[in-house]
Amino acid sequence: MQSVFRFAPSPNGELHLGHAYSAMLNYDLARSIGGKFLIRIEDIDVVRCRREYEMQALDDLAWLGLRWETPIRRQSEHFEDYRRALEKLMARGLVYPAFMSRAEIRSQVEAREAVGGRWPRDPDGASLYPGLDRDLDLPAEEALMAEGRSYAFRLKMDAAVAEVGAALYWNEHGSEASCYVRVAAEPSLWGDVIVARKEIPTSYHLSVVVDDAAQGVTHVVRGEDLRPATAVHRLLQRLLKLPAPLYRHHRLILDDSGRKLSKTYRDTSLATLRKSGADPADIRHLVGLPQPPL
Ligand code: GLU
Repeated sequence: MQSVFRFAPSPNGELHLGHAYSAMLNYDLARSIGGKFLIRIEDIDVVRCRREYEMQALDDLAWLGLRWETPIRRQSEHFEDYRRALEKLMARGLVYPAFMSRAEIRSQVEAREAVGGRWPRDPDGASLYPGLDRDLDLPAEEALMAEGRSYAFRLKMDAAVAEVGAALYWNEHGSEASCYVRVAAEPSLWGDVIVARKEIPTSYHLSVVVDDAAQGVTHVVRGEDLRPATAVHRLLQRLLKLPAPLYRHHRLILDDSGRKLSKTYRDTSLATLRKSGADPADIRHLVGLPQPPL
């Protein structure tokens, strides 16, 4: 079976050195084993994502010397696929509309911490959803929706984990292609994650697993910052009966003060580096990747 790798940028800003590293690493790994390299545009956030950023990103990636399969998949064109996956979860009673605003979550968490110690945080540092509306009956849910209240669809984490039953794992491959480690996945650390929003029938987690399966991705190579999210992805893959790719979470490219690069930090944007005269070989050197074979 041919291996399939993907680079999946969100076009909500300019690509920086961290994206260049991830994209080139995927590309090099695909080439080294005769695999395919795909690009996926993760633009479900229709407010923050812009076509200009997408065009700039593709231009930067081509300039780096990368070539990819066409057509590229753009998530905003596949909302129906995500809706179908969401409906499968809903039909099994694993999803509920969660109406608490950020301010309400904060005050609930503060109230509980005042009496009961620290409320759990997810791996990204956000408070777990208190879930007061997890067990509303249908008329109560419908009444709140009819009031025009904002909501997000959340996964009933405990029920989802119970439905899967067995312990969850993923295979993480290191820099030696032949060496894998089995990593225990603990989706419960995330609490009731958001799987869709009122206006958008999906979330990052849901669309990633649907797309990786739809595109036949065999190797997910992405930043270390997304390693904890893999637990949620494995859970959704099991619930939706989707295949599990191999994973590799690579080091992040940090700025001078040791922080992760961000799209607002323009000094390391590829567009800026290109304008200041850098060439693709310089970019490879800057991120510590070997020059490609001729
Ligand atoms: N779109 C995500 C990002 O730009 C990457 C998602 C993934 O590789 O799974 O950080």
